[in-house]
Amino acid sequence: MKILGIETTCDETAAAVVAKPDGDEPGGQILSNEVLSQIAEHAAYGGVVPEIAARAHVEVLDRLIERALDKAGTTLAELDGIAVAAGPGLIGGVLVGLVTAKALALVSRKPLLAINHLEAHALTPRLTDGVAFPYLLLLASGGHTQLVAVRGVGDYVRLGGTIDDAIGEAFDKIAKLLGLGYPGGPEVERMAEAGNPERFALPRPMLGRREADFSLSGLKTALRIEAEKIAPLARADVADLCASFQAAVVDVVADRVRVALRGFDAVAGQPTALVASGGVAANGAIRRALAAQAGQVGLSFVAPPLPLCGDNGAMIAWAGLERLRAGFVDDLTAPARARWPFAVAATAA
Ligand code: ATP
Ligand code: MG
Ligand code: FE
Repeated sequence: MKILGIETTCDETAAAVVAKPDGDEPGGQILSNEVLSQIAEHAAYGGVVPEIAARAHVEVLDRLIERALDKAGTTLAELDGIAVAAGPGLIGGVLVGLVTAKALALVSRKPLLAINHLEAHALTPRLTDGVAFPYLLLLASGGHTQLVAVRGVGDYVRLGGTIDDAIGEAFDKIAKLLGLGYPGGPEVERMAEAGNPERFALPRPMLGRREADFSLSGLKTALRIEAEKIAPLARADVADLCASFQAAVVDVVADRVRVALRGFDAVAGQPTALVASGGVAANGAIRRALAAQAGQVGLSFVAPPLPLCGDNGAMIAWAGLERLRAGFVDDLTAPARARWPFAVAATAA
């Protein structure tokens, strides 16, 4: 089975071909994975400008799809389906990808798979590592932060989530505040390596709460206050602020994951693994903390290789492949969705 995946929900234009050889072996094969980041176009604004993003997708998507097919050594005719992220995301960009995918599905007479971008992040560790259901997922990205019991394809139970900022968003905001580049996550992580994580006593919001929820806006404010106290900031100050911030995030994540693990059994039984996905899963400190934590409770820890943590086409193609195999197919009426929750509340599960 071979699927084309298209991703245009934010500031990455991406197209990929993913295959799964016949047979029962877990995991998939990435035949091509083309990603064009628009970071340069948005950098001057310190964030993604929706109109610029949509226009940039229009300019490059056709060529990118061609290249993805070429590099995979395949053609439209040989595919088993066309998968596209139909949301959630910036609606102009989503429309570009969705309309393109519909046209391709129509002319090639292949099934269309309208994929939830978050579901694609959630299933990526099955593509890369063949993780078996059910698993506990920390989905942490620029727009979302959730703890989810992944029970099967299309079967996701939300154990907790952020009540304000997403973790990636918090990284991006403090990077902006400290005069670092966009996106903030990698910049803050790099600065933190040289910093002292104990210099600033930042709060650990939600620590010890019984629900697996997050709150990050207070942490961000606390950091701003500390930064203002010692302004103007020397490079070493920025490094210490970044290290202190990252250490606080790591403590909060570890605590929230602990709570979610406790609640997992009631909705999904025994997890096979602790999994992190989404752009924030690229963070080394968070990965190390989660790996240690998983080890303590006898679970394996899985996070995708760095290029597959952030947005990419392979994850969309893979989610399409999983959905097609499970019998979920969409038709040409599939809507573009700016908002699209993918997991149900534990109380509804
Ligand atoms: P969503 O998936 O919620 O729609 P998105 O697609 O914009 O949002 P991703 O591309 O999955 O998000 O992830 C980007 C986010 O990940 C950014 O906020 C970025 O700062 C963050 N990020 C990337 N690398 C790191 C890192 N090393 N440490 C922390 N955060 C990181
Ligand atoms: Mg992005
Ligand atoms: Fe994403």
